[in-house]
Amino acid sequence: MRRTLGIDLGTTNSVVAWLKGGEPEVVSSSPEGGGTPSAVGLTADDGLLVGQEALNWVERDATRVITTVKRLMGRQFKDEKVQQALGRMGDDGPDITEGPDGGVLIRLGEHRYTPVQISAIILRRLKRDAETRLGSGFDRAVITAPAYFGERQIAATREAGRLAGFHVVRVLAEPTSAALAHGVGRAGDEDATTVLVYDLGGGTFDVSILTLMPGVVDVLGVGGDNLLGGTDFDSSLAGHLQGLLDARDAAYEALPGDAAKIRKAAERAKINLSAESSTEVIASPLGASGMVLSETVDRKELEALISDRIEQTVRLTLSTVAGASLRPEDMDQVLLVGGSSVIPLVREQLAEVFGREKLRTDVDPMTCVALGAAVQSALVEELECPGCRAACPLDADACPGCTAPLMGAPTVECPTCHVPAPEGTGECPVCAFDLSGLAAERPTPSPVVCGECAEENAPDALECDLCGAELRDGGGLKCAKCSLVNRPGLAWCSYCDAELPVAAPSDVTPRPIGVRTSDGTLEILIEAGTRYPTEQPVRHDFQVTANPGDMLEIALHEGDLQPAERNDLCGVALYEMTEGAAGTKVLTIAVHLDQDRSIHVEIRLDGAAFSAAAFRRNLMAPEFRRRAREVHGRFQTFLAEWRHELTRAEDTVLNETANALERVVRGEAPGRSLDTLLEEADVLLVRQQNIRSASALSYRYPEHVADLMPQEDSEAMRRHRTALRVAREAADFEHGHKIADEVMSIRRRLGTDLFQVMNALSFASHNGVNAALQQRIQRAGDQLTEAVRQGDLASADAAKSRITDLYQDVRRALDEFSLPERKTVHPRRMVH
Ligand code: ADP
Ligand code: MG
Repeated sequence: MRRTLGIDLGTTNSVVAWLKGGEPEVVSSSPEGGGTPSAVGLTADDGLLVGQEALNWVERDATRVITTVKRLMGRQFKDEKVQQALGRMGDDGPDITEGPDGGVLIRLGEHRYTPVQISAIILRRLKRDAETRLGSGFDRAVITAPAYFGERQIAATREAGRLAGFHVVRVLAEPTSAALAHGVGRAGDEDATTVLVYDLGGGTFDVSILTLMPGVVDVLGVGGDNLLGGTDFDSSLAGHLQGLLDARDAAYEALPGDAAKIRKAAERAKINLSAESSTEVIASPLGASGMVLSETVDRKELEALISDRIEQTVRLTLSTVAGASLRPEDMDQVLLVGGSSVIPLVREQLAEVFGREKLRTDVDPMTCVALGAAVQSALVEELECPGCRAACPLDADACPGCTAPLMGAPTVECPTCHVPAPEGTGECPVCAFDLSGLAAERPTPSPVVCGECAEENAPDALECDLCGAELRDGGGLKCAKCSLVNRPGLAWCSYCDAELPVAAPSDVTPRPIGVRTSDGTLEILIEAGTRYPTEQPVRHDFQVTANPGDMLEIALHEGDLQPAERNDLCGVALYEMTEGAAGTKVLTIAVHLDQDRSIHVEIRLDGAAFSAAAFRRNLMAPEFRRRAREVHGRFQTFLAEWRHELTRAEDTVLNETANALERVVRGEAPGRSLDTLLEEADVLLVRQQNIRSASALSYRYPEHVADLMPQEDSEAMRRHRTALRVAREAADFEHGHKIADEVMSIRRRLGTDLFQVMNALSFASHNGVNAALQQRIQRAGDQLTEAVRQGDLASADAAKSRITDLYQDVRRALDEFSLPERKTVHPRRMVH
């Protein structure tokens, strides 16, 4: 059967749980229990270190170990959050730089990894450890992420899971997961329960306020400080210990690994002080002389060092409550989550504010998020296909519609850089090593122990050989009344009808969605925490002023920062403003969120339906979109002006590229390297422009100024004209471009004067524009022909210079006729 792991992929610690016989259980990676530090490192000879091993390596070489990578997930290097996180990481860690797509790259040894790849290494290790410990394969996962993670960060988390070999069933918000582990939101609860989740971890502090009813989670508010956590307490205590050490021995000179040793001792002492009132701190050897640090620290001393920051968490908690227009007494329960919430001072302070009876400390704060993720795996009724988004049955191995796999792909590990990749990948994405020959390891299945009689059965047995009891795990929750392990997705026991511990929570938007307005600011259309699918489209009125041919851009961004472009882009709808749509109109934007997270936008102008668009939220980096918009604009201008001159084959190729660009401008991922698409589009347009100009020149020179140029040049022009036509009919841009180059070099050789004469004569031979100018040019042209025929060089030169003067008027006349520039317009706020 398909088994699902629940994974709390934490900033400092990751914890894994599974559903054993209908009840969540932590899978410890170490015999001491607990989680796996979220750290990855490389030894001096490039051996892979994950978890505690990697943390231990910090003392040896901090540049080869990366921790707290979660802060970088799914973000651009320039993102303020990334810059803050880098500031916090200090200078002794690995080199972190901007990647070619604007993302983040982390250097370990010779290799550069993305945060997704580092997370995939951690997840793959967690998967393998769990499989070894439990003796069965896990090919699906529910992975948790903070409530403030936006779509990009969620997608990055999914991608890391996929690379690690999982089908990611769901990325679940951490506070929701914690609530599930605490059994909040049972099928039998009639009233909504309001819970405050206080999550103080290693590096982050998150507060969330949720209301839960069966099947429903509403996020009323999120807050916190994502640079505050247990490591700050370690630093304070380490600083204190360092001070004692310096005061005790004036001769002490620190060695490079000392600080890491003292910090580690400080963390151990801090943890001990949650259970004891005093503890011994021992760290050695320190300094060149091999000193021993040995101190007794009291809880009171620690509290004095950290109380400021704990009070700060309480203040942030209260301001989140107030921000949701609630009072502390409106909270029904306060869930304590995260390793640092074990600290007694935290509990005392929260008890003072909320009342001790509301604090829930019955589920282990370090593991409850992972436990909730395992519970969630029992609540899903169907899987969403990662390919076509169709709903698929839980027991399907692949989507019945589009055949996309619904169980993780077996993965291999690159032997040089250790990054995981699906079996069958050609080149390693990090180090280009050839992975094609590698086969994935598959776990050896272990016997199934019968729950009734403890008999060991074959791994694939469905019922017990000895007592005949059913061995298949229902995959859902266990009924507390009759002990039946139900099918997944049920809220009530299928045998005795008793309520099951929890019901499936709904999906909500993690962050608000807004539209970019004409002054560049963001106007929120959909608030954070909106449940989807939305029952009714959400409508907002704006104004828009446009000329015919202008493009109306409805750019939706996720976030609440100003200006709009600072937020992640969800998608863009583009509308060409027709004759009837021009002028100043009331613009109504109606937004509807689909079950599969798609956004549907409908536009009305002065109340009349105008157009509609739908798009999936995506991961497009703003810089790429800007570049795509620029290239797309040039394509449009070129096509508007010259489409009538293109061959059918050229028209097809150009159109395909223009459409691909438009999809990128709308925010869709292009399905291939964006860099290559933009580069190819750029080259294509430049070539087409050259080919078109060269074609025109190859006609006009022989037609208008054959007598004024060497015969071989006019013959060459005629030859090129034919060759260009052939190339253009086949849309052979490469060859056409070469010929165009030759035409251009003849043009350069013939000089600017002849070019202007040719152009002016060509202009005068066409009807329709400025008859007077046309006549003057034609007269000068006739004089020129006559002078050349008579061999009168002086008159010929005079006629030529008359024509080049007239050419300036031609240019002005042409400018007046050129197409008006197309503008991009945005919605404007209504003035009331
Ligand atoms: P994260 O969610 O950021 O990965 P965790 O919830 O796993 O973090 O918490 C890790 C932090 O909790 C570390 O700073 C660790 O020192 C701290 N911690 C763990 N156990 C205790 C304890 N008993 N008392 C105080 N702090 C603890
Ligand atoms: Mg956590």
